[in-house]
Amino acid sequence: MAKRTFSIGGIHPHDSKISRECAIRPLPLPPTVYISVAQHIGAPAKPIVAPGDKVKVGQPVAEPGGFVSAFIHSSVSGTVKSVGPRKDLAGNNQMTIEIAVEGDEWAEGIDTSDTLVTAIPEDNKAILEKIRLGGVVGLGGATFPTHVKLSPPPGSKCECLIINGCECEPYLTSDFRTLLEKGEQVVIGAAIIRQVLGNVRCVFGIEENKPEAIAHIREVIAKLGCEGMEVMSLKKRYPQGGEKQLIDAVMHRQVGSGALPISVGAVVQNVATSLAVYDAVQKNKPIVDNSITLTGECFPNQANVLVRVGTPLSFIIDQLGGMPADAVKVISGGPMMGKAIANLDAATLKGTSSLLFLRADQTVRGEASNCIRCGRCADACPMGLEPFLLNRLAKAGDMDKLEANAVQDCIECGCCLYSCPANIPLLDVIRMAKADVMKIMRARAAAKK
Ligand code: SF4
Ligand code: SF4
Repeated sequence: MAKRTFSIGGIHPHDSKISRECAIRPLPLPPTVYISVAQHIGAPAKPIVAPGDKVKVGQPVAEPGGFVSAFIHSSVSGTVKSVGPRKDLAGNNQMTIEIAVEGDEWAEGIDTSDTLVTAIPEDNKAILEKIRLGGVVGLGGATFPTHVKLSPPPGSKCECLIINGCECEPYLTSDFRTLLEKGEQVVIGAAIIRQVLGNVRCVFGIEENKPEAIAHIREVIAKLGCEGMEVMSLKKRYPQGGEKQLIDAVMHRQVGSGALPISVGAVVQNVATSLAVYDAVQKNKPIVDNSITLTGECFPNQANVLVRVGTPLSFIIDQLGGMPADAVKVISGGPMMGKAIANLDAATLKGTSSLLFLRADQTVRGEASNCIRCGRCADACPMGLEPFLLNRLAKAGDMDKLEANAVQDCIECGCCLYSCPANIPLLDVIRMAKADVMKIMRARAAAKK
């Protein structure tokens, strides 16, 4: 039987998973961590520590700044040095808590042992509270607070929980390694989420280029005797890990423009989020660390490393042999949706998944020429948009028509840019136009209130 995939657009870039054999290993603690209060979608968290305070690993250092917001915890034990603005990966100032590292003493009540806890608490309200207190956010890129996502609005009902194990971006391998090395914890995390959602069907969506992970998770599900869970091997195709694309692939349902997955009965959680849910609920362990892939053809020490949140990127790179001589660009995330890093002194966030090092010849873009109306960008767009048209409207500054042509639905996957024979910087132009249109839409919604 043909493997499932999504039905509109998509491309097949080389997967370049050159770090796939590298087991996740912990890095030493840095001398200082810099913990941003803006690590999630929604209101930034509010600092609850001040310079001079002593903190332990897992102790909250910032509390939610609104309903859609999340707790942030210290990732080390030490002394708070400062609370103030500091430049993030993009070079923008963010409120940051600077902590001098003095040890690795964990806050009381956190289980740091390797013992697997399989018995799931029965009280779903208590589970959601533990997820909230653990500062769990979506780690597949969106960083949406998980306790909010797991509380569907009244009138909506989840029918299927999809655990996103696609990792369809080229180069990235931390989710793949997590599936192999923490499969039990990920499956129990999924079982917890499934219970909260009403014991719904649960599908692990994993692309066919990760056969070891597919086999391992099937074994774990059978070994743990988890009910209502299955693994679906999906055809490799980018951007299958996009929420709407994965729902289409697994459930054959289309999420409408501006609608949420729950509108078609779906909730999607990433593999790393499922692990974070296990940690928060079964071990009382908040998010204080995450797995990051360091890769690229010019990077000699391919690695998947476990680092504490707030570790400076320059420290991580130094631990792995330093900056490669021929690297001219470092990207946070994958080559398709990742963002170029403007500041290597910036520190990791909960959602940091990868540092990708590129040589000059890998960053050169061909000279842009005129659109030849070949339609390849529209064929490749997984959201059914017409990138050539959006590009034209953006250049004309026609905000009304951009909105009417659903620029706000763009998931910034880069398939259009990848496919364009005229080398038109479609993604850059459309991304900026989308931001402008979203601003107008938000202002309009606020005026209506
Ligand atoms: S970046 Fe946006 S417009 Fe381009 S292919 Fe992806 S969704 Fe479509
Ligand atoms: S792929 Fe490029 S050249 Fe072809 S229609 Fe789209 S914008 Fe024009």
